[in-house]
Amino acid sequence: MDITQRDIDVLWHPCTQMKDHEKLPLIPIRRGEGVWLEDFAGQRYIDAISSWWVNLFGHANPRINAAVREQLEQLEHVILAGFSHEPIVALSERLVKLTPKNLTRCFYADNGSAAVEVALKMSFHYWRNQGQPEKTQFVSLQDSYHGETLGALAVGDVALYKETYAPLLMHTLTAPSPAGCYAKGEASYEDYARQQFESMAALLEKKASQLAAVIVEPLVQCAGGMRMYHPVYLKLLREACDEYHVHLIADEIAVGFGRTGTLFACEQADISPDFLCLSKGLTGGYLPLSVVLTGEEMYQAFYDDYTTLRAFLHSHSYTGNPLACRAALATLDIFDEDNVIENNRTLARVMSDATRSLEDHPHVGEVRQQGMIVAIEMVKDKASREPYPWQERRGLEVYQYALEKGALLRPLGNVIYFMPPYIITPKQVYQLANIAHAGIDRATREL
Ligand SMILES: *Cc1c(COP(=O)(O)O)cnc(C)c1O
Repeated sequence: MDITQRDIDVLWHPCTQMKDHEKLPLIPIRRGEGVWLEDFAGQRYIDAISSWWVNLFGHANPRINAAVREQLEQLEHVILAGFSHEPIVALSERLVKLTPKNLTRCFYADNGSAAVEVALKMSFHYWRNQGQPEKTQFVSLQDSYHGETLGALAVGDVALYKETYAPLLMHTLTAPSPAGCYAKGEASYEDYARQQFESMAALLEKKASQLAAVIVEPLVQCAGGMRMYHPVYLKLLREACDEYHVHLIADEIAVGFGRTGTLFACEQADISPDFLCLSKGLTGGYLPLSVVLTGEEMYQAFYDDYTTLRAFLHSHSYTGNPLACRAALATLDIFDEDNVIENNRTLARVMSDATRSLEDHPHVGEVRQQGMIVAIEMVKDKASREPYPWQERRGLEVYQYALEKGALLRPLGNVIYFMPPYIITPKQVYQLANIAHAGIDRATREL
């Protein structure tokens, strides 16, 4: 029996209405190499979305492969409570050096949602340890996404994922998003961000005594539709969080490791959060790993005699897995050795040039870019910015067309985007842009 049928008989895929696969092909992949994925029929696809935003330097990267292979011969895993290992110590030293100042402590987990849970729990627990147990609430942004576990889902705001589970979720506060400037018909990203910040400032002023933390995705709300915003918002937010004694959690799970043009998005606002959550690109897309970085004051608030019961007693079985840490170290080596952040500036310009003509497309409302992320928003009416009804699933048509043409371009609703591995060539970027253009032509013709 062929692998597709064997899969359909026993699997239940993530984020999928399985009935779709009565019509949509499921694509088993036999091997990956660089930017390419190859299926069992030998058809190849450019991985334009880095396999859900995790891959940085291509599939089967020789340097990361070698590092993981070497580690495999030494130690595959060890409990991290009471024990340690070299890769995790080396990785922590490097992350402390690379991340914004004041982040001096690394707490590990094994996926992005778990990192968000850690940050939320730590923030709440800090205030409790400091004798302010009434600071229990979290503020997040409209259209934000922080993962799928119940705590992470509660601070998110993508209705498609959240609404069904609303009765299960803790109560949180939502502030208007600084992104979506285009949809509101505002001309200046900066003015819009400043204007939107006023509601956040008012909320902080009013509720500070009950607030533990504000959580944001710096610069790009990815799952919410690659919605981008001006860094001034982060600057203003950092100042206000300081003023009102509320923690700032930066969820850079998707945008970290160069996606926005700088190694971390927070750098563009020149701020340091109280918690920085990292995962996805952390291991170059090889293995599940996540980390929450925080500062010395946070750490000291938990540091005491055991019997005071102030410790952070949170754990996951695979926390800090050595193979994953080695993949992460090899990934950081590549950033250094290949001067990646600087070279990406050229590549980002290519991405911009290649997609520019889409701006004139009658059904493209906006082409927006932040570093190595380009998003193309399809609209029903260009002048009024009226979106296509979601039920029409126009993005899915682009997806199917792109697969036929050899590209994995999984959309977010009506938003088509490129978030490619950094080893993509200019020629491949143009190839993707052509496929996207033709796909959008096809998906937006009259039904
Ligand atoms: C993907 C993502 C998460 C969740 O990470 P998982 O590893 O999928 O649990 C959290 N926050 C952001 C911003 C993400 O993009």
